[in-house]
Amino acid sequence: MSVLVRPLRPAELEAFRLARLVAAEWQPYLMHALFAVAPVAAEGLGTFAVDAGWRLYLDPARLVGESRWDAPRAAAVLLHEVGHLIRDHAGRAELLPLPRHHLAWNLATDAEINDDLIAASVPLPDGPVTPASLGCPDGELAETYYATLRRDHASLPDDGGEGCGSGAGCGPIPGELPGTTGLGEGAGAPVDPAEADMVRRRVAQAVRDAAGGEGRSTLPAGMERWANGVLAPPVIGWDHVLRSAIRRGIADVAGRVNYTYRRPARRQVPGIVRPAMRAVQARVSVVVDTSGSMGQDDLDAALTEVGGVLRSSGVARASLRLVSCDAAAATSKRVRSVSGVELVGGGGTDMRVGIAAAEADRPAPDVVIVLTDGYTPWPDEPGHAQLICAVIRDGDPSDTPTWATTVHIPVGRSAA
Ligand SMILES: [Zn+2]
Repeated sequence: MSVLVRPLRPAELEAFRLARLVAAEWQPYLMHALFAVAPVAAEGLGTFAVDAGWRLYLDPARLVGESRWDAPRAAAVLLHEVGHLIRDHAGRAELLPLPRHHLAWNLATDAEINDDLIAASVPLPDGPVTPASLGCPDGELAETYYATLRRDHASLPDDGGEGCGSGAGCGPIPGELPGTTGLGEGAGAPVDPAEADMVRRRVAQAVRDAAGGEGRSTLPAGMERWANGVLAPPVIGWDHVLRSAIRRGIADVAGRVNYTYRRPARRQVPGIVRPAMRAVQARVSVVVDTSGSMGQDDLDAALTEVGGVLRSSGVARASLRLVSCDAAAATSKRVRSVSGVELVGGGGTDMRVGIAAAEADRPAPDVVIVLTDGYTPWPDEPGHAQLICAVIRDGDPSDTPTWATTVHIPVGRSAA
């Protein structure tokens, strides 16, 4: 099969938009994903497919002309392809035991998507792959269908098939665009993995909202299960994440200045300069948001954890400083322990004030840890110290600076 990938022409784009509208009307919670994909024309493909960069390959013959699909049909296939992306079939394929069987995975993922589409009365083209057609019950994960196929149909030929494309964890379609570039002028520009992840979470949130509202009756059970999985807190506890972030920050500092040539060892071998070992102590400032929107219990738990990590990492008590901060002011003091900060419940929140105060202290800190609920502006530029944003709140913190390390501490899930 030879496929020519090019930007969509106006009439094709028009047909795609119409199909997307129909799809969004059927499953409004998929809106973010439907509008995030990058559509391109793929002449000769015969169908639609996706790649790992969220490009959507559309055979223009299915959009315009004699053999086109009508808008509902195209919308159904569109929902199917987007289903591969939001369910991360590409990422999940990488976790399968080797060697992977592309055709089996393609059938398994199609079945995982299609039972939900059929439950929602979406009119798929004739003869869609379903769990029943694989001899399996509805509502299982693709991994389960895959295992069944490998067991019961060991002789299933693997055509190395591209199926729904690399975005489904199958082989790339002929003519698939390179991972990092599009077709110019914005056509086919890839969606990067972090952005894809954010779209996935937004869709999951929309599914959950629909589950609690009027959309309830038309929401396939599989979608709700999927959303709950996406939105579940990570298996790794925040305390472990915080621990390794602080250790990394301290190790970076220690590694940078552990050896110094400033004062050569006294009895040195002539001609050889030996570095003098110098005891280095990372200086750590903890900036605490005392503005009041945070709960005392969560703050206490976070402070205890921070204190424990600092102690076990060998940060001397003398080099620890605590900065209490709300929108108006920051007060800084040297402390022997970080426990026992009282929340005063004052005004707004601006952690930039506290971070600036911490950075202005002399000697300057190497690591600044900010404990906050995250509803604060952040500095635009990194300062001298490494910044760790420990955000105590329910939702995912998404607005911390990209150059800082962010640790999410879900409310009420403080370390045991
Ligand atoms: Zn598929």
